[in-house]
Amino acid sequence: MPTQLLTVNAITKGFTAHQVPIVKDISFSVYPDEIFALLGPSGCGKTTTLRLIAGFEKADAGTIAMEKRILANRTVHLPPESRGIGFVFQDYALFPHKNVIENVAFGLRKASKRAKRERALEVLRMVDLTGLQTRLPHHLSGGEQQRVALARAIIARPKLLLLDEPFSSLDPGLRQTTREEVRALLKAEGISAILVTHSQEEALSFADRLGVMKDGALEQIGTPEAVYRYPKTTYVADFLGQTNFIYAHVKNGRAQTPFGRVKVEGEASGDVLLSIRPECLKIMASDVWGSGAKSGRIVGQMFKGHNLTYCVEIEGEDYFVQTDYNCPYKVGDIVMLKAISAVAVTPSNRSEVDGV
Ligand code: ADP
Ligand code: MG
Repeated sequence: MPTQLLTVNAITKGFTAHQVPIVKDISFSVYPDEIFALLGPSGCGKTTTLRLIAGFEKADAGTIAMEKRILANRTVHLPPESRGIGFVFQDYALFPHKNVIENVAFGLRKASKRAKRERALEVLRMVDLTGLQTRLPHHLSGGEQQRVALARAIIARPKLLLLDEPFSSLDPGLRQTTREEVRALLKAEGISAILVTHSQEEALSFADRLGVMKDGALEQIGTPEAVYRYPKTTYVADFLGQTNFIYAHVKNGRAQTPFGRVKVEGEASGDVLLSIRPECLKIMASDVWGSGAKSGRIVGQMFKGHNLTYCVEIEGEDYFVQTDYNCPYKVGDIVMLKAISAVAVTPSNRSEVDGV
C-alpha cells in the first residue's frame, strides 16, 4: 500500500443541541489517486464528517492529517483555505451575481488577474463548459451549475476534493452520465476525492473504496465488491441492496438451509445469521441437486426489464430470488430455491437478534 494522503483518526464531534455525538470515533484513510465514498442514510453524519475534514467544523477529539501535515488535532486547527482541499457543496453554493468565469476564478485566491483567467478557462475546458464563461448561474442547467462548482473546486489544484451529494439534484438520466464524466476527470487529473452519498448505487459505481456509516459511526470499510459480497453486519448487507436473512448452523463451512446445503464464505461456525443475496439463489421446479431444499410457492414477482425478482414463500417466510427476464415461472407456481453462496453477518440491532 502507498502512504496515505489523508488520515482521519478517531474523530468525534457533537453539537450542543444533541445528546449524543453526531460523528463517533471515525477513522479512515484516503490514498493518492483514490476515490473514497462515505455511504449512509440521511442524518447519519456524512456532511459533518466532510466539514470536519475541510475545516468548517472543529472536532471534539481526534486527528486529521494530510500526508505528514496535521490539519486538526487537540491543539491545531488549520483554516479551510490552508488545507489544500477543494469542496463541492450539495447545493453548489455558486454566487448568483457572479458569472461562470468569476465563480470559477474565485477558487484561486493568490494569483494575478491574468493567471486567474487563464487557469479558469483551462478548468472550464476540462469540465466541458467552454463558451459559457459570461453566463450567470440561473441561466445554466443543473448539470452545468454542478460543473461550474466542480471547476471552482479544482482550479487551485487541491490534493483532495470533497464532494457532498453532488449528483443528487440532477435528473436521474443526467445523474449517471455526469457521474461517469466526473469520475473520468478525477482519474485523468489524478485528484483524490471523498464522495458523500446516501445512494448505494452511486457509491458502488463511483468509489474505489467506501465506508458505510450508521448513526455517526463507520460500520465497515472496503472495496465496493467486498462490502457488497461480504457484509459484516445486517445493516451493511441491507443498505447495499436487497438480501435474504436466515438463521442456520454452520459446520465445516457449510450450512443446511431451506435452499439446500450452502457454502458459507469466511470462517463462520455454529449458529449464525446468514445473508443470501437474491442473485445467489437459483429457482428450480424440483430439487434436481438432491440438496434438501424445501418447496415453496411464488407469491409475487417484480419485473425490472433486464431481470425479474420473485418472492417465494417457504414455510411461512418470504424470500427474494433474482432470475433472467425470461424466466417461465408465474405467481402461484410451486418451486424450490438453491443457494449458491452465503455470508454470515452480525445483527446490527437488538431486535434483529430476537427475530428477523
Ligand atoms: P448527513 O449529511 O449524513 O445527512 P449531517 O452531518 O448533515 O448528516 O447531520 C447529522 C446530524 O447532525 C443531523 O441530525 C443534523 O441535524 C445535525 N447537525 C448538523 N449540523 C449541525 C449544527 N451545526 N448544529 C446542530 N446540529 C447539527
Ligand atoms: Mg448531508
